[in-house]
Amino acid sequence: MQHAIDISGKKITPAYSGEKAVCGFCKKEVRGKCGKIYIWHWQHVHNAACDVWKEGETEWHRAWKNKFPFDWQETIIEKNSEKHIADIFTPNGIVIEFQNSTISSSTIAEREKFYEKMIWVINAQTFKDNLITENKSDEQLAEIELRYLTQRSQLSKHNSVGLQNIKKKQTALTSEIQSREDDLRALESVTDLFKSYNKNAETFAEQIIIIWQSENLFVDSSLIDIISHDAIPTKKTFFRLLGDLKRNKHFLGAAIKNSIEIEELYMERNEILSELENLKPAVKEELKYVASEYLDLEVEIAQLKREISFLKLENDENDREYQDLKISIDTYIKTNLEKLEADFDEERNKIIKDKDKLTLFWKRERKSWGSAAAPIFLDIGDGNMLYKQPNNKVSRVNVCDFISKYNPDEC
Ligand SMILES: [Zn+2]
Repeated sequence: MQHAIDISGKKITPAYSGEKAVCGFCKKEVRGKCGKIYIWHWQHVHNAACDVWKEGETEWHRAWKNKFPFDWQETIIEKNSEKHIADIFTPNGIVIEFQNSTISSSTIAEREKFYEKMIWVINAQTFKDNLITENKSDEQLAEIELRYLTQRSQLSKHNSVGLQNIKKKQTALTSEIQSREDDLRALESVTDLFKSYNKNAETFAEQIIIIWQSENLFVDSSLIDIISHDAIPTKKTFFRLLGDLKRNKHFLGAAIKNSIEIEELYMERNEILSELENLKPAVKEELKYVASEYLDLEVEIAQLKREISFLKLENDENDREYQDLKISIDTYIKTNLEKLEADFDEERNKIIKDKDKLTLFWKRERKSWGSAAAPIFLDIGDGNMLYKQPNNKVSRVNVCDFISKYNPDEC
């Protein structure tokens, strides 16, 4: 100890070896120790039981105490009929205890409870090799960035399968509609001719016969389709008669003939015309059969049109479903991405804030200090300290900065 009480009750430091005074705590006699090697201090004459909390004072203790003002050193604190010597007691009521040797968790807890506002300064110079400090922040940043990217990528794929399925259905429906519309156009091109006869089989057959009898037989390509239709076997005879009639007409119109020849040609003409008239009902019936085929096509067309409109309705509904799902997915992704980004920023900022802090590892853990509630400063020598926080994060602190925090006049 560096303080004792003189006869007048004043707190003093020793001036010479052998100087007499009394211990301010136990009131027992102390003598001055003023050598060349150690910092001058007082020593109890008898190894009296002074403050049981005080360990054997070392030069390390004395040097630390001397860094603070005289009045702050070795302050006796009395509470509920219990008293102890605080190494340093600042005007702000903070106790700083310098601890050289290992103490148990229960001792730490007991002293923290008594002093309330306190700080531990531990002499770590002897076991600093047992401490490993690492800066983990870059590793942690990389780790959360990777995790964030993974989560972001997972989020962007949210319900993409559902959306894809609707899209697939959309493609299938579109191609189905396309194919039906192609069929429809093909059918309609066939029925166009029939339509121009008001979709009436009778009129259709009559009109075809009139066309066949006319000169413009091959004007319309659809007529060729009908001419070549298998369901009209009578057409062969019909066209032969039409040919005969044409030739007869030609003979009648050409050159000069005698009355017998003319009469014969007229007779022939009448026969041809009569045969044609006789054949017409059969031709007409056969043509009506062809017309009925077109009528069937009309039914098919109507059916196709119904199917197409049904498919289009289904397609519209599918479109709406797609849009709805897309909106809900977008909203889900947006909301969760905002949350994810906020979480990421918070986590990253926390790491960046602690970037200069080191993570402390004890090769052989000093378990008792893990239980301390008060701030711990590890004195690792050469004017450096490590400030240990509960999460095992440490930051380097200069001894001068540490002292000036409590005593701005110093350093
Ligand atoms: Zn004493």
